[in-house]
Amino acid sequence: MAFSTTIRESYRQELNGLRAAGLYKEERFILGNQGADIEVEFPAGAAGRKVINFCANNYLGLSSHPDVVAAAREGLASHGYGMSSVRFICGTQDIHRRLEDRLTAFLGTEDTILFPSCMDANAGVFEACLGADDVMIADRLVHASIVDGMRLCKAMNDTYKHSDMNHLEEKLKEHQDKRIRLIITDGVFSMDGDIAKLDEIVALAEKYDALVFVDDSHASGFIGKTGRGTHEHCGVFGKIDIITTTLGKGLGGASGGCVSGRKEIVEMCRQKARPYLFSNTVAPMIVAGALKVLDLVFTNTERRDTLEWNTKYWRQGLAEAGFDLKQGDSPIVPVMLYNAKLAQDMARDLFAEGIYVVGFFFPVVPQGAARIRTQLSAAHTRAHLDKGLAAFRKVGAKHGILGKGKKEITEMFGK
Ligand SMILES: *Cc1c(COP(=O)(O)O)cnc(C)c1O
Repeated sequence: MAFSTTIRESYRQELNGLRAAGLYKEERFILGNQGADIEVEFPAGAAGRKVINFCANNYLGLSSHPDVVAAAREGLASHGYGMSSVRFICGTQDIHRRLEDRLTAFLGTEDTILFPSCMDANAGVFEACLGADDVMIADRLVHASIVDGMRLCKAMNDTYKHSDMNHLEEKLKEHQDKRIRLIITDGVFSMDGDIAKLDEIVALAEKYDALVFVDDSHASGFIGKTGRGTHEHCGVFGKIDIITTTLGKGLGGASGGCVSGRKEIVEMCRQKARPYLFSNTVAPMIVAGALKVLDLVFTNTERRDTLEWNTKYWRQGLAEAGFDLKQGDSPIVPVMLYNAKLAQDMARDLFAEGIYVVGFFFPVVPQGAARIRTQLSAAHTRAHLDKGLAAFRKVGAKHGILGKGKKEITEMFGK
């Protein structure tokens, strides 16, 4: 069939609809590497502007760390550019297995299997391990990649209200007839920055004979006293059956993900997980870079400690300025604005002040819950934070929202 004028027009109409609804996503070009100080070209073709980055997942500041870059370069020299194969044919090198072993030790599990991304890990793990006699019981705010992975799996699909342990308990009781009950949650929830109640979840899993799955993408490397993740933070290290996480955020920010957990589950993934079987191996230089990242996070906690300090300082500064913040213990600090246009206007004004943040609104967050999600990094210095806070105070005052809460802001701007 030809790509006819009619078909082209129908796509254009849909795209114009997105623009008209204010839902069209414009990408901004970073000129240079990822870091706390970046130069951004926006809109496309405009002169680059130097800004401080408060919206990357570069939690540990390792995305452009010289030791990581050097290790990746050495990996490139010793192991080549690409594997031109999936893992099970001829795509596994010594360093791939070494990285899996290092992740196992770091996450405190029995075994680990790498995937091209955490999106792929989540797309593959459920189908590989569960069947029609099983049930998946997921928190209602889990990441989109988990939702997609659950759709691909034949097990029954159920949910519980966000972090509502009574509701989870009801669901566990309801599904006692199933072979496997798998409780599914994010460790740190990416939009609100709150942490799952993993201690209570593990206790319920023990009481009702269930397994626990945690996606720790927004936690691995920095949540918990030694950065092992949400399970360390919640005192249930070693008790999680399946952890998925990404190498694309705190752990260097390149790409790659994994399923880590019970030995037999990992083995099932190696045999059956389709994104593992049918997608190319993580590139050798990324594996070499990730091994260095793990060396860095294993041997000292300085970066996660800095991140924790930065987060406290930032939260306190914004709260004292009179912003309405979502409470939480993670380096994700959402500034609540409730109105989509306000979130976009403030993000634009902040950009003009040299602060790079993005407004989030429906459908990424619920209707009437628009916000600017700020994210801290160990790469931020005190000067970065102070400049950011000053800009937020100035822009918040301009829009008249300092000291105002949900009710007042909604009255002023609507939903
Ligand atoms: C970012 C993220 C992913 C996707 O990770 P990639 O490795 O980039 O595919 C999966 N799950 C959660 C919770 C995430 O935040």
